[in-house]
Amino acid sequence: HWSHVPAAPPDSILGIASLYRNDPEKKKLNLSVGAYRDDNGNPAVLRVVRKVEQEPAPDHEYIPMAGIPSFCQAAVQLILGEKAQSIKEKRVVTVQSLSGTGALRVGAEFLCQFYRPAATTEKPCVYIPRPSWGNHRKVFQSAGLKVSEYKYFDPVSCDVDAKGLLDDLTNIPSQSIIVLHACAHNPTGADPSKQLWKQILQVVIQKQHLVFFDSAYQGFASGDLEKDAFAVRMFEQSGIEMLIAQSFAKNMGLYGERVGALSFVCKDSSVVASVQSQLETIIRSMYSSPPANGARIASRILNNPVLFEEWKQELLEMSGRIQEMRKLLFEALVSRKTPGDWSHITKQIGMFSFTGLNVEQVRYLREKYHIYMTEDGRASMAGLSRETVPLFADGIHDAVLQ
Ligand code: PMP
Repeated sequence: HWSHVPAAPPDSILGIASLYRNDPEKKKLNLSVGAYRDDNGNPAVLRVVRKVEQEPAPDHEYIPMAGIPSFCQAAVQLILGEKAQSIKEKRVVTVQSLSGTGALRVGAEFLCQFYRPAATTEKPCVYIPRPSWGNHRKVFQSAGLKVSEYKYFDPVSCDVDAKGLLDDLTNIPSQSIIVLHACAHNPTGADPSKQLWKQILQVVIQKQHLVFFDSAYQGFASGDLEKDAFAVRMFEQSGIEMLIAQSFAKNMGLYGERVGALSFVCKDSSVVASVQSQLETIIRSMYSSPPANGARIASRILNNPVLFEEWKQELLEMSGRIQEMRKLLFEALVSRKTPGDWSHITKQIGMFSFTGLNVEQVRYLREKYHIYMTEDGRASMAGLSRETVPLFADGIHDAVLQ
């Protein structure tokens, strides 16, 4: 039956991870995948998660299609803030999702079915930043949406291209769907300044765009849950409608448990029941109901003030270690007098650094040093340790001089 089926191209991120797995070299280093590692290079389970795990699940019954209510409520409060007007006015719908990806996918499905911008009869188009997380395009396309890009990054300054971004958001058709990374933009690690966020909001309001926030790093980026929610909260406070995808993969280290949430901030509470019921219908046909275990863990941490404080402490530790790796790498390059300006390494935020290395240099590092990063030059700072920073700096120095 399947002889006509062509092999799919490997995923740009997971494909590199598989090259890494097949490399027999002992001192190999994987900086391609976005997962936190401790200073010994090992995956880490949060202490607060281990604590909660001591208490076994009461049962393994199905949970509702929309997920565990106490989790959903706590998740949306975490991103919008407990005092958010939209929550008070009961005009927010939140459903549990299969981590951030699942939230984006269900949201995309809903948009494809129901988003009807008055300005056009064409299929709605989603605009993602250039560059963006590699899966964004595929997730939205597979739901049937058209995907296009807006300018985001200036490779010369290694920072956000503020003018290009504002121009593009102004010049695309009104009522477009705009994906914004809530914080710690992946892959560039470059976020808009507060001032630029305000300008983006102005354009969004003026052009009546529909914003879809992707929040995959709240608390993990800066160590401060409030700070990382700044942009989302400012948009919410303006009273506009929006969608939010949340992931608890990084900030709770629950990667494989697939814990996330999708929220719709609506204009009016009268639409809430219908939106919720359609989301449930989409979920029912895609996977029936979400997994219970991870959301139960997250819910207990989010709803218990003592556990919540313990979690915040661990967020500081994780983000602090990543920031320290940035500093060490920067210093190591400066001390080697590696040609180029490397200040972006400490300026960028989140798990990744967009190093500025080109494809040839990335391949050179892979072949000669067994250091694996994605071919766009993105390296996970969380994959580095005190021990491996010098090796990485040696590799970069050598690659740059080639
Ligand atoms: N969006 C962005 C920007 C991401 O970086 C990630 C994680 N790499 C995700 C969404 C989703 O990840 P997950 O499905 O594991 O939550």
